[in-house]
Amino acid sequence: MGYEPRSQAIYQITNREPILTEPPSRLEDLWAADVFDLSKMKQCLPKAVFKSLKKTIETGEALDVSIADTVASAMKDWAISKGAAYYAHVFYPMTNATAEKHDGFVSVQSDGTAISEFAGKLLVQGEPDGSSFPHGGIRSTFEARGYTAWDVTSPAYLMETDNGVTLCIPTVFVSWTGEALDKKTPLLRSIAAMNKAATRVLKLLGHKEVAPVNSSCGPEQEYFLVDAHFANSRPDLLLAGRTLFGKPPAKGQQFDDHYFGAIPERVQVFMQDVEKRMYRLGIPAKTRHNEVAPGQFEIAPVFEAANVASDHQQLMMTLFRQTAKKHGFVCLFHEKPFAGINGSGKHVNWSVGNATQGNLLDPGDSPHENAQFLVFCAAVIRGVHKYGPLMRAVIANASNDHRLGANEAPPAIMSVYLGSQLEELFSQIAKGEISENYSHKGEMRIGVDTLPPLSKDAGDRNRTSPFAFTGNRFEFRAVGSSQSVSGPLIALNTILADSLTFIGDLLEKELGQGFELNTAIVGVLKDIIQKHSAVIFGGDNYAEEWHRIAVEERGLANLPTTADALPVLREKYIEELFDRTGVLSPVELESRYEVYSEQYILSIEVEAKLVIDMAKTAIYPAAMRHLGDISNTIAGLEEMGIKLDRDNIKTVAELTNSMMSKVSKLSAALEKEDFGSTEEHMKYFADTIRSMMNDVREDADALEAEVADDLWPLPNYQEMLFIK
Ligand code: ADP
Ligand code: MG
Repeated sequence: MGYEPRSQAIYQITNREPILTEPPSRLEDLWAADVFDLSKMKQCLPKAVFKSLKKTIETGEALDVSIADTVASAMKDWAISKGAAYYAHVFYPMTNATAEKHDGFVSVQSDGTAISEFAGKLLVQGEPDGSSFPHGGIRSTFEARGYTAWDVTSPAYLMETDNGVTLCIPTVFVSWTGEALDKKTPLLRSIAAMNKAATRVLKLLGHKEVAPVNSSCGPEQEYFLVDAHFANSRPDLLLAGRTLFGKPPAKGQQFDDHYFGAIPERVQVFMQDVEKRMYRLGIPAKTRHNEVAPGQFEIAPVFEAANVASDHQQLMMTLFRQTAKKHGFVCLFHEKPFAGINGSGKHVNWSVGNATQGNLLDPGDSPHENAQFLVFCAAVIRGVHKYGPLMRAVIANASNDHRLGANEAPPAIMSVYLGSQLEELFSQIAKGEISENYSHKGEMRIGVDTLPPLSKDAGDRNRTSPFAFTGNRFEFRAVGSSQSVSGPLIALNTILADSLTFIGDLLEKELGQGFELNTAIVGVLKDIIQKHSAVIFGGDNYAEEWHRIAVEERGLANLPTTADALPVLREKYIEELFDRTGVLSPVELESRYEVYSEQYILSIEVEAKLVIDMAKTAIYPAAMRHLGDISNTIAGLEEMGIKLDRDNIKTVAELTNSMMSKVSKLSAALEKEDFGSTEEHMKYFADTIRSMMNDVREDADALEAEVADDLWPLPNYQEMLFIK
């Protein structure tokens, strides 16, 4: 006996038939088998068409539309030969979702017969019924049309499900009037803005040949796997992706024995399966391991160009969800599925570089490369200092709020970690201690060569920092596990574009005044570090003391909740930043603010309603059954003259009453509708509603510790975290 769904779940899991690993395939056979990549294009396109398309892909130059029909037809033939009957324009709306519109290749002829057809115009442009996607007021309902347009720089691929194969075409999603309705358009624009500013600086630094500069991204994804039997009997996990109730288990992660421990076999089989699918789609899955919390894992693909990495990230999350289902798991990307247990992040490793100068955030081997590196690094530092609140805003959502500042997660204060060597170097530059060594006439001897060469290995790591330099890239560690990487990449590219423009102006001025390049560079570095060193921090970001110093002494913003962070998007200097760089128009930025704040309020509202529902219909009845059982037993025994302790009855009765009165308070609080502004509305949910939800939870979790286990309706923390 026992509470049916829970004991059933445990029975099912312990008796499940293992999914057998398929015999391993050769990576070479799997790799990009389902991608219409350059090598396949080369095989099936006429030479001239291939050359033109390749140029567009590599340089971002406009697509020659006259080749679209030929490309579409070749793409269709390839897709059909692999079993596809449909194609879909895939786009990334302002939510973190991936959206698709499917169409058949079918074309009915005048004689009533049908042929499969895919014209160039269908490849290049689509028109999904976009009215149901949030647009933050950009489109009024009478003009609801939105267009998708092929993003040639991200390859088309085949998506296989149980229902067949679909040719997927990555696209941007824009309104009739050309406003971006998605996350890809501003990402592409931010890359273009950064490229322009970086190219100018590289030329000022003396490079004659400068290839297009792109940004790279290698996202590390953390996630939880919970057996589907458990997840399916928890409405909170199903609808909100996190547990709204649950008492911490006796054994949590205190022993740290999960991290880098052996991956459970069932999980390993899942990982192999999902990685195989990733390889077929050309996603370079590389590192996998257990994470700190029980039931938590990580996957990191090798970095790629930001735009491709971002599409691959979205695709990867889809693959994880699908494959987990097949293996009887639910994959949780929520930032904090279990209170008191480590949350999940998505570390966005980011750099910029090109084919001629390589990785621009790599210190390099020569003094010249070092100086160039310092310029780019200083540009990033300036950006984070000036626009830290923006970086906080682009990682703001209801779920990441639970993680930032909680166990083992960076705080909501943006700072930069450089490592001791680099920090020391910049501080010397700021103090002017190395400036004298600078004028070696005529040759590229940048003064920094008087310093010990920068070692490649950053050596010391700081795992508490929200944004850390890790040797040849920055790692944005505060990004949440459920989030699209586009937002953070857009912010990083844009603030870098802004800083590089600033640097370009300064260098140009100094060089124009006849200063030597070396002197001009040191001048720029000095100027930046003197103004922006407040954002550099190498200590423990988790320490209370830092939170005080950061705000009081260094003037950095601490924006603990999304309600605090999103209004940053409405600040004048942010509007100007995006407008100036051409990444987002004021209207587009405003629409993002609208969409994100609406989503924030909605997601807390859904959770609050779930709290009420679950407390009333699952937890209250369990407590009452428990009270019924025990009071009957006590009454029966008293008739026989046996007296029993009544403490448990009293405790359970009190907790139940208290919980139900808090539920009533929460219900009443949700009725409020008269808000003066969106900010006020968000604040109300961030403060009042969330704390009322926590109040209910407090009693419910206390009840879980008192009520008979076999009457408890919800799978508990140890079951969900430890049973695989
Ligand atoms: P960690 O020590 O932080 O756990 P991992 O090895 O798990 O590091 O992940 C590092 C990530 O950084 C990988 O995705 C890797 O491809 C990526 N990376 C490495 N170099 C760059 C670069 N130049 N630009 C962007 N990402 C990079
Ligand atoms: Mg990392």
